[in-house]
Amino acid sequence: FKIQEPKNEPYNSFEPGSPEKKELKKKLKELQEEVIEIPAIIGGKEVKSGDTIDISMPHNHEHKLATVHRCGENEVNMAIEAAMEARKEWAEMPWEERISIFQKAADLITGPWRHTMNATTMLGQSKTPHQSEIEAVGELADFLRFNPWYLSQIMSDQPHSPNGMWNRVEYRPLEGFVFAVTPFNFTAIGGNLPTAPAMCGNVVLWKPSSDSIYSNYFFMKVLKEAGMPDGVINFVPGKGRSVGDPVFASHHFSGLHFTGSVGTFNNLWKTIGDNIDTYKTYPRVVGETGGKDFIFAHNSADVDAMVVAALRGAYEYQGQKCSAASRMYIPESIWDDFRDKFVDEVNKIKVGDVEDFTTFMGAVISQKAFDDITGYIDYAKEADDAEIIAGGTYDDSKGYFIDPTVIVTSNPKFKTMEEEIFGPVLTIYVYKDEDFDKTIELCDDTSPYALTGAIFAQDRYALKKMSKAFRQSAGNFYINDKPTAAIVNQQPFGGARKSGTNDKAGSKVNLLRWLSMRSMKETR
Ligand code: GLU
Repeated sequence: FKIQEPKNEPYNSFEPGSPEKKELKKKLKELQEEVIEIPAIIGGKEVKSGDTIDISMPHNHEHKLATVHRCGENEVNMAIEAAMEARKEWAEMPWEERISIFQKAADLITGPWRHTMNATTMLGQSKTPHQSEIEAVGELADFLRFNPWYLSQIMSDQPHSPNGMWNRVEYRPLEGFVFAVTPFNFTAIGGNLPTAPAMCGNVVLWKPSSDSIYSNYFFMKVLKEAGMPDGVINFVPGKGRSVGDPVFASHHFSGLHFTGSVGTFNNLWKTIGDNIDTYKTYPRVVGETGGKDFIFAHNSADVDAMVVAALRGAYEYQGQKCSAASRMYIPESIWDDFRDKFVDEVNKIKVGDVEDFTTFMGAVISQKAFDDITGYIDYAKEADDAEIIAGGTYDDSKGYFIDPTVIVTSNPKFKTMEEEIFGPVLTIYVYKDEDFDKTIELCDDTSPYALTGAIFAQDRYALKKMSKAFRQSAGNFYINDKPTAAIVNQQPFGGARKSGTNDKAGSKVNLLRWLSMRSMKETR
């Protein structure tokens, strides 16, 4: 059985007067007229714990969108039981049948559910229509179509059988359940982390970030409509420890699929280590964590192209992508030209309500994010070795708005050159042209992360030198382009060092982590 190579989903551009713009506006209005109640979904049933929190819009925090029931030990234990029950049939279902459910889900989110996926992501996570369309619809549909295709390739990969012998491998799901812990910043990652193991025959407990439950809940509805059996993916929102502790105490825990901060990932890994005797099988641990992603320019760089890359790389979705450009190295000889053009563009960026289709940046996700990011900005304001040359202003009276900020520092190890900020703040270090080699080393040595990086040069020798020197510095490496916006099946995504286990999202490598092989030999 072979499936056809899928195509990447094309994006709507929401031109003025277009039907898709009208439909999306209608959906945005409709959703805001109602405050919904979000239950946990366990074994296909809605479960209301009564321990609730409210969810509101980051760009208008007075506006409430939903009340969420959080899970505790009882609900998590129910979910483990439901998952293990569902596993009996799900693990035995032929993979060709399993994948059809996820392919159908892709058709639903690109069809009748498209506006809902976009509108819930825009309202709950403060994404602009474009930022939402490229991921809550485009990237998520791509994961749901390409992963089945990769799975079909894995299944057909069989060993050699000499005469008189029949060798084969079975690709079995893991013996237990997988725990998917997902971040707020991509609805697509929220969708991919539970579905990739599920299509391999695993059952899943899915704990979404508390800042994206709204859109994630609607994706659960899509999966149900697509025919996903009850108990295969169980939706268990709640506090980290309240959900995590009973999960990691379970004998049946067999894998973690994680995207989030390095601190949380380290803690989860340690907990798994401490509980290792509890588990029936060694758990698979797959995670993508942070980044301190760079743009590094040689003096032959195309300055205009770099202005666009820095603008989009640093400020799209308010800099809240793990891949966002957050430090930049520019040689003195092109600095003045770059600075003038860049600052001019940064000052034109429109920050505000994402329902206004001309806005470039919405609000950052929460009060905590706002406080953390503005803390870095204030630190730079006070420092002797740094200067803010654009932005530096913020206002959380209505929404958590922070203007795009550019810091220039004479200290390559300045705090904002080293630490992940996860907000619209770019720090630039200007180096002497003759220090090109030294500055490459410095850049590689400045952060513990290795997620994304971008280099700019027209000179082929300079490109070669940088590509080689930065071999270990970024799992996703871009030449004369921005470090963000990886596309499924074009740039498999993930980082090494402290950025994660580099089991690229949307790839065969990732799916193999959710399969356990049985080698079989039969003689005639
Ligand atoms: N895949 C996204 C990109 O290439 C980043 C994902 C993340 O923030 O974790 O921009």
